[in-house]
Amino acid sequence: TGWLGKLKRGLARTGNQLVDLFSGGGKIDDELYEELETILITSDVGMDATRHLLADLRREVKEQRLTEASQMKEALAHCLLKLLKPLAQPLDTGTHQPFVIMLCGVNGAGKTTSIGKLAKHFQSQGKSVLLAAGDTFRAAAREQLMTWGERNNVTVIAQQSGDAAAVIYDAVQAAQARKIDVVLADTAGRLTTQAHLMEEIKKVKRVIDKALPGAPHEVLLVLDANTGQNALSQTKAFDDALGVTGLVLTKLDGTAKGGVIAAIAKAHPIPVRFIGVGEGLDDLRPFVAEEFVSALLG
Ligand code: GDP
Repeated sequence: TGWLGKLKRGLARTGNQLVDLFSGGGKIDDELYEELETILITSDVGMDATRHLLADLRREVKEQRLTEASQMKEALAHCLLKLLKPLAQPLDTGTHQPFVIMLCGVNGAGKTTSIGKLAKHFQSQGKSVLLAAGDTFRAAAREQLMTWGERNNVTVIAQQSGDAAAVIYDAVQAAQARKIDVVLADTAGRLTTQAHLMEEIKKVKRVIDKALPGAPHEVLLVLDANTGQNALSQTKAFDDALGVTGLVLTKLDGTAKGGVIAAIAKAHPIPVRFIGVGEGLDDLRPFVAEEFVSALLG
């Protein structure tokens, strides 16, 4: 199946509940709003965004004098679109050369996989890509990246030992010398509760700026959409430490309820640059709000 099909399947659980609710043939009443509230909250939309959406929906229903439940689907789609559209800001790497992207996230979020997908994405735009194997905690991560680079004709800068900052510093310098378009700097997965590791990643960012003043040009946080409200606390912690400029939301094909994107839009409206809908190299696409809402509500 194609990319949209995967997204649709991923969001089907939430989408079907909503579509069923609205196609019951009833009137718009308090009970309908209550059921909608339950669906939104159990779909990871969270309290704040749910309250916001319901208030906006009530306003729209009143303004347009809607009375039938069947009319709610379109109204909800419109409210969701208003909430999500500000997040849809595609990443423009044309502003700097090299354009340095630093990736961060907790273990298992899909960081390494996303780096491969991103490299392919930029290569397919005719851009040269260099990877910095900054995950120096796991030897396997370095090996994985190097093997991947060889297979896909992407230079990988790695070191047997040494710290992440040193590897990435070298990589940014190499990228300048070789006139590379995009640098993808990997960092080790870390828990936001590990204070020393959060200090270490701040240092990585400072060292990148030393190698190339003004860089990194993008700090991408990779989030697993299945982690629900945890994704919010991760966003806050990494943003406080690094100033996150973009998000990659992975695994929207899985058991994701999808609602976390609305929660993010309300609490931390950081652009969602890409969404991941599978393990394959082509399963990463720029986030388009209209596509997301239509995949959800059909
Ligand atoms: P890291 O620890 O953050 O580097 O995570 P990995 O890149 O190793 O990914 C962890 C697991 O999630 C792997 O099994 C990946 O194949 C899987 N994964 C990553 N992104 C996606 C996605 O968008 N959809 C699905 N279904 N699996 C994904």
